[in-house]
Amino acid sequence: MEQAVIDTIYVDGEFVIPHGTELFDLHNPASGKVIGQVRLADEVDTELAVAAAKRALPEWSATSREDRIDALRRLREAVVARREELLEASRIEYGAPVRNEWMVDSAVGAFDGMISTLEAFAFVREVGSATVEMVPVGVSGLITPWNSNVFFIADKVATALAAGCTTVVKPSEMSATQTQIMTQAIHEADLPRGVVNVVTGRGEVVGTTLTRHPDVPRISFTGSTGVGKVIFRESAEHLKSLTLELGGKSPSIILDDADLEAAVPGALFSGFVNSGQACVAGTRILVPEGRVEEAIEIAVKHMSEFPVGDPSDPATVIGPMVSERQWERVQSYIHRGVEEGARILVGGAGRPEGLQDGYFVRPTLFADVTNDMTIAREEIFGPVLSILTYRDEDHAVEIANDSEFGLHAYVFSADSERAHRVASRLQAGRVSINGGYEPISPFGGFKNSGIGREYGAYGLEGFLEVRSVMK
Ligand code: NDP
Repeated sequence: MEQAVIDTIYVDGEFVIPHGTELFDLHNPASGKVIGQVRLADEVDTELAVAAAKRALPEWSATSREDRIDALRRLREAVVARREELLEASRIEYGAPVRNEWMVDSAVGAFDGMISTLEAFAFVREVGSATVEMVPVGVSGLITPWNSNVFFIADKVATALAAGCTTVVKPSEMSATQTQIMTQAIHEADLPRGVVNVVTGRGEVVGTTLTRHPDVPRISFTGSTGVGKVIFRESAEHLKSLTLELGGKSPSIILDDADLEAAVPGALFSGFVNSGQACVAGTRILVPEGRVEEAIEIAVKHMSEFPVGDPSDPATVIGPMVSERQWERVQSYIHRGVEEGARILVGGAGRPEGLQDGYFVRPTLFADVTNDMTIAREEIFGPVLSILTYRDEDHAVEIANDSEFGLHAYVFSADSERAHRVASRLQAGRVSINGGYEPISPFGGFKNSGIGREYGAYGLEGFLEVRSVMK
C-alpha cells in the first residue's frame, strides 16, 4: 500500500479537498510506524456536507422501496469488488488479523440484512381507523469508531438509505484509509449526489457541528459511553432522534450443567473477539464456585488457541491494539487488576516476547476477580479477561446485572430451556445462548450501553418518524 496523504473528503457526489488543513498521522499498529496522513475536515466542510444532504433529501426520501433496494444492491456489489483492498487496509491501518475476514464480510452482510428487511417492511400500517405512515426523519449524522470501521459505515449508511434519509458520515480519523476505500465504493455505486457525504475530521469539530446542527434531525452514534453522553446533551437543543451504541462489560455465564470443555473456550472466544477491541466482548467469565479449579485448568489450556502476533500471519488470532494510547490504557488496567488483588493466570503487563515494536499486548487472563474490582467494572477494550465465581443461579444473575452496562451477555448450559430462563433475567440488549447468533436481530444496550437499537426492522424504525393520519 502506498504511503500517501489522503487529502479529499466526499461532498455532494465529489471528492474534494477539504477547507480544513490539519494533517493527522496514520500508523501501522503492528510496527508503530507512520504509514500516511489524512487531511482533516473542519466546520466549513461539515456545513457544506449537511447542505448537500439537505438538497438531496426531497428526491431521495421520495424514492420507492425498489429504488432503495436497487441502490443497496449496487453498494453491496461495490464493497464486494473492493473486498481484498478493504481487508488489506484493515490489517495495515487497524492491525486486524488476516483471518478476520468478517471485518469486511460483515459489511456485505449489513447490506444483505437491510435489503431483506426492506423487502418485508411495512411503511404504512393501520391502527384502529387511522393510517400510520413511517416517514424518513431527514438528514442523518452517522458517527463511527475505529474498531470495525467498514462495518459501521456500511450498517449505518444501509439503514439510513433504506429509510429514505440522506447522510453525513463522520468516521474516526484513525481509520482514514479504510474510509477512503469505502467511500470510493460508495461513489462507484452511483447514488444521486449528496445522498451520502463522508467527512473525516475530529469529533469535537466535525462531530459537534453535526450534533448541534438544526438541519440534522438525527444522529446515529457508535462509540464510548463518555462521548455518547456528550452527544446526548448536545442534541438536546434540537431534540434530535438518537441512537447511541456505547460500551459494554458483558458477562459470560457458564451454568453448572455446562460442558466446560466446550463452554470455557466459547467464553474465551467471546472475550477475545476483534483482539478484545469489541463492545460486545464477554470480559467477565462467571463460573460456579464448585467448578472453578476445573474451569481455570481448561481456560489456561485453551489460551494457546488465541496467539498474539503479526496480523499478516494466518495463525494470529489477536493483533495489536489500534494505537499507543489504547496500548497504554490496556496496560494500566492490567496493573490495576494486580494492585486490587486479582491473580494473573496467563499474560500480564508489557509486550509479548518477540513483539517489541508496535502496540501488542499479552492476552491476559485473571482469576480471583470480584465484581467490585476496576477490571470487572470498566471497559478495558483489549484482550484482558476475568474469571469470577458465583454460588448459585440467582447469584450469577445478580453479578451479571451488577454493572453500569447492559449491551450483551452470553449463557452456556447443557439445558437450553434453563439457559433461556436465565437469559430472560439479564439486563442486556442481546443474549447469546451457547454461541447463538442472528445478525438482523435488534442490537443495542440497556443502561449506560446506549439508547435505541440497530439492525433489521428495529434499526430501520430508528430512521423513521411516525405520522398518524385520522379520517
Ligand atoms: P469514541 O467515543 O472516542 O469515538 C467514537 C466516534 O465519536 C469517533 O468518530 C470520534 O471522533 C467521535 N467523537 C468524539 N468526540 C465527539 C463529540 N464530542 N461529538 C461527536 N463525535 C465525537 O470511541 P472510540 O473511537 O475510542 O471507540 C471505542 C469505544 O467505542 C469503546 O468504548 C467501545 O465500547 C465503543 N463501541 C461501541 C460499540 C457499540 O455498538 N455499542 C461498538 C464499537 C465500539 P474522534 O475519533 O475524532 O475522536
